[in-house]
Amino acid sequence: VLAAPVVLRVRELSKSFNGLKAVDKVSFNLHRGEVISIIGPNGSGKSTTINLISGFLAPDDGLIDINDQAIAGLSAAEVSERGLARTFQNGRVFGSLTVNENIALGYHKKLSDTRPLSSVQDTPIIRWLNLLGETAVSLINGPAQKREHKDVSQRIDREIDYYRERLGSRVNDATYTLSYANRRRTEIARAHISEPEILLLDEPTAGMNQSETAEVLQQLLYLKEQGHTILLVEHKMDLVATVSDRVIAMDGGKIIAVGDPDEVRSNPLVVESYLGR
Ligand code: ADP
Ligand code: MG
Repeated sequence: VLAAPVVLRVRELSKSFNGLKAVDKVSFNLHRGEVISIIGPNGSGKSTTINLISGFLAPDDGLIDINDQAIAGLSAAEVSERGLARTFQNGRVFGSLTVNENIALGYHKKLSDTRPLSSVQDTPIIRWLNLLGETAVSLINGPAQKREHKDVSQRIDREIDYYRERLGSRVNDATYTLSYANRRRTEIARAHISEPEILLLDEPTAGMNQSETAEVLQQLLYLKEQGHTILLVEHKMDLVATVSDRVIAMDGGKIIAVGDPDEVRSNPLVVESYLGR
């Protein structure tokens, strides 16, 4: 994977809050098809790093490039147009929309033409999206990425089948009626279906029990198998070790170790940073 082109380049990224260095000269490369996990104790700067990269915060200093284009300081909408999709530590889906509809929002972001989807149930919101097309997409997600894919409807049908298999009839239920774990899986599905250059996931298994965590792990492995480029913040070391090509450990806003999962997990500095709290 390290021979693949660099999709995300971060150099000397820094951000302070009231004099506290939340992120302190962070540098790393994320390669196409690579999965990197950021680990570290609470307050070590993981979420701030993700928020800087996704344009939810402006850096004080440093460079961020997506496919060699500078994006540091751009708005979240502009960064998303450059091909970055993210999920949030607390999970954000449209609760009154069904799972299908939430996933379809990701699809609609992807397309400049809005052909109807055969696999998505015909509902008022889907009819409305098909009717308004690009305008609706812009209202919800910012401007659509103008990319044509001949086989896109077929591919999306397959993706929705994947989720239908795993969520059963629930795909046509309002998302707020689902478990927290399934709402978060829906959020990942929506981000995934927009076919981002980079997928940023902030603690996708936070607050989940073992079986829910295992389901999210399956979903992450499915994304990885498809060659997606993923930057993940995650605490659960077994999951991190299973899914990651490389791990970045942070403490006090700085990167204290980078490498393959077992290497980083057994690094004395990393062990100390966890035991020290
Ligand atoms: P992590 O995600 O690793 O738990 P964060 O990136 O959320 O850590 O936080 C890093 C440090 O920055 C913490 O000390 C936190 O209190 C501080 N911090 C994060 N966001 C803000 C903010 N919006 N205002 C002030 N301080 C913040
Ligand atoms: Mg966090």
